[in-house]
Parts: sequence; C-alpha cells; structure tokens
Amino acid sequence: MKVLFFAAHPDDLDVFCQGTIWGLLARGHEIFQIYATKGEIGTPFADFRGERLGRIREREAREAARVFGIDQQNVIFLGFHDGSVKEKYTLDSINIFKHWIEMINPRVIFAPEADEASSYYRHPDHQHVGKMVREVCQLLSWKQPLLFYHSMKSNFYVRVKRKKTKDTREVHLSQWYLIPFDFARKIPVPIFRLSQNLVDGIYAIYAFRKGFKWVEPYRKIDF
Ligand SMILES: [Zn+2]
Repeated sequence: MKVLFFAAHPDDLDVFCQGTIWGLLARGHEIFQIYATKGEIGTPFADFRGERLGRIREREAREAARVFGIDQQNVIFLGFHDGSVKEKYTLDSINIFKHWIEMINPRVIFAPEADEASSYYRHPDHQHVGKMVREVCQLLSWKQPLLFYHSMKSNFYVRVKRKKTKDTREVHLSQWYLIPFDFARKIPVPIFRLSQNLVDGIYAIYAFRKGFKWVEPYRKIDF
C-alpha cells in the first residue's frame, strides 16, 4: 500500500516516525515523504541560516530516504519558507496539499499534530502542516486514517524494533551541535540536538507503559 508522510522540516520524520517507516518498508509498502520546507532557519548559528542551509538539509533528507531505500521521486519538497507555514495557511496552500494527496492517493497519511493543545512539540510550522492535511482530508471526505505524530492524545501505537538497521537521524549532520561546555569543546563528539533526545525519552515512557521494547505513538483520526 501507499503511505504518505507529511513533515514541516527535513529531519522531522527521522525523529518522530523512523521506526514506523522501517517497519512499513520491511512489509513492502511504498513510502512517500512530503516536506513543507527545507528547514532554512534550522540552526542556532545565525550565520548559517538561509538558502544554503536549505540545500544542505534537502540533501540530508534525500540521503535519509536513500538509507531507507525510498525512491527519490517519492520525496517531495513543497517550497514553503521555514518558519512561515503559519502565514501561508491559505486556500492556495491547502490546494497544494490537496493536489499531492489526490495524486498519490495513499492508504494512510501521517502528519504532525494539528491541535496546539494536544501537541508536545509546539512548532507553528508543524501545527499548520497538520491543519492543512486535516482540512484536505475533510474536504475530500477522506475515508482512510490520518495519524498525527507528537500528539499528547495518542491512541494508536506502532511497535517498532529499538535497534534500527541504521539510524537515519545520523545523516542530518547540520542538526548535530557540539557539546556546549568548555571542558568538552576539544572533544570532537557531536550530540544530537535536544529535541531528538526529548522525543526518545517520551517514546521510552510510552514503550514502558505499553510493555513493549519500543513504540511510536500516534493520534489516529477517522473521518
Ligand atoms: Zn520540525
């Protein structure tokens, strides 16, 4: 079956849905990834922000897709500017999302949590990607499930292997920051950015509660 994942930024799917993607691929399903932005402002270092970082991050997302074994043609960038998805929450934008959903016609759609109050990762880009996907599903009287990631109201758990073949977060080198302590500056060991560790911690709690080694939690919406 075709499964469509929406994301705001190039590393989101590797952070929130990676185990689910590996599991679907292992079962022979076809994965599509649609990124609203190229994450041009995704760095604490102001000098690095801009088009160049966007190109680097698109390359990183495509490299992650290569590691997964996802066809590059199934990796789509919509060209929204990082940080501006909320301002572009218009009928024109919704039509862009509608175009792709109709064209791919997936069996399942994944997207970031659309309701701010239900989300533990409150980024306006994420939230508005979720909102647009949900609106299209409502417009189309969508009969297939929509699953929101980083939701606090999860009701659907995908059991995944803790040990991944390869961790696709590792290809997002632009998102690795050096340890910010003086004593550690000389050690060339990068750490994943905080949000990735945070997500691991949250998923570990869900896994413990469910009695599984590892789960990825979602809020499933049926229309
Ligand atoms: Zn993001």
